[in-house]
Amino acid sequence: MLTLNFTEKQIITDEKFLVGIDEIETDENGLNEFLLDGVEYKWFQEFQTQDIRQVYEKITPYFFEGEFKGEIHKRFFNLQKIGILSRWFLITITDQKTDLKVTQYVDNNGNSEGIVRYISSISSLRTNNPTALQLDTFFSWKSFEFTNEEQLSKALINSDSQQSKFHKLNVYNVGQGSLCSIATDDNIPLIYYDMGGGWRFFKHTYPVTKRLCFTVANTIILSHWDWDHLETARRYSYTPDWEKFRDKTWIVPKQNITSSYMKFLYKIAAISNVLVWPEFGLDRLAFWGGDIIKCRGFSKNDSGLALVVSCNNNHITNVLHPADAAFKDIPFLNEYTFDGLVATHHGANFEINNSDVPISFDKYHIAYSYAHTRYGHPKTAAINAYVTAGWVERLDTVNGNISFTYVNNINVPCGGNCDLTIDQSF
Ligand SMILES: [Zn+2]
Ligand SMILES: [Zn+2]
Repeated sequence: MLTLNFTEKQIITDEKFLVGIDEIETDENGLNEFLLDGVEYKWFQEFQTQDIRQVYEKITPYFFEGEFKGEIHKRFFNLQKIGILSRWFLITITDQKTDLKVTQYVDNNGNSEGIVRYISSISSLRTNNPTALQLDTFFSWKSFEFTNEEQLSKALINSDSQQSKFHKLNVYNVGQGSLCSIATDDNIPLIYYDMGGGWRFFKHTYPVTKRLCFTVANTIILSHWDWDHLETARRYSYTPDWEKFRDKTWIVPKQNITSSYMKFLYKIAAISNVLVWPEFGLDRLAFWGGDIIKCRGFSKNDSGLALVVSCNNNHITNVLHPADAAFKDIPFLNEYTFDGLVATHHGANFEINNSDVPISFDKYHIAYSYAHTRYGHPKTAAINAYVTAGWVERLDTVNGNISFTYVNNINVPCGGNCDLTIDQSF
């Protein structure tokens, strides 16, 4: 074990957690925001020999969010460079002040706000460490097989007779996150694309959970495993309405995910069908609504499933939804002529220097899905890159639900039990 200490004091604490890195993001000021995701050490000692399918409900996910500054960042990354380490860390948490302050969140679905704590040490577990091996075995995809093209195509068939005559992409206002559907002209969702919303310190940007419409939709495509793309489903999973997800089909990418997502994966699998996109050999799948494209990057954002919604009977014929992927990691884009686009990653800057935005064709419709947060989405440089590429007809989800069409058809005729009526169209 290689250990970094953040205090010289002798700290007596038995608050130990086994965590993985959900995210490390470097901002313009050189701060490195991190989010650790894990479980209590003593919980794992008790449950490690069991099957996660049996005990996933008993997992309490903990999150630790903070910033590495200067020297601490260097030390942490030096630790990372040593190639014999697993993806797991053992951290000790205390209320006594150390050099590494964090905000601790617990996902028990209470309305608990984050609390300030301190990390006194971080130890990297080597790949051959027995606990790391146990963690890899426990939190694994091993009960899921990859799906083949035929199974996926079957799951995308929609019994609704309207499906191929007219459909469009609808993008809903869920605060800092993403929730979309391919919908009929009167806004009945046929397939959902992501189930997200504002969460954790951005949950105030998504104050009321959107009531979904399952009149027709049976299938949910998940772009990638980030909570801002899953928050609506997570909230449902703590209510009786979780039943509405029963026997639905989720199409998901297999990604290297930390324990809170593993818990949710098994929670979904307990009531729904989970189809895992094959790791190799299927780069794109055409279906009545358009294409699903497997992204080729490395991070969760860049290695998920992007969506192209195509409909020749709509005024806007080809819309690209990259979710959070950089355009350079989405193959085949030069084979399309897009006249609709959703800004990637909520309007964040993207690699490389915001270059390679798809060029708009004839018409220039772009939607931004975000809330006003300290992230400052959408970023000015990113907006400029889109404008330069011709994407000037702009709608923002902060102003309400968006439909990629000219037809001002705003209602959803499903009996008034959902919150998916449209506020804006192009
Ligand atoms: Zn996102
Ligand atoms: Zn993401």
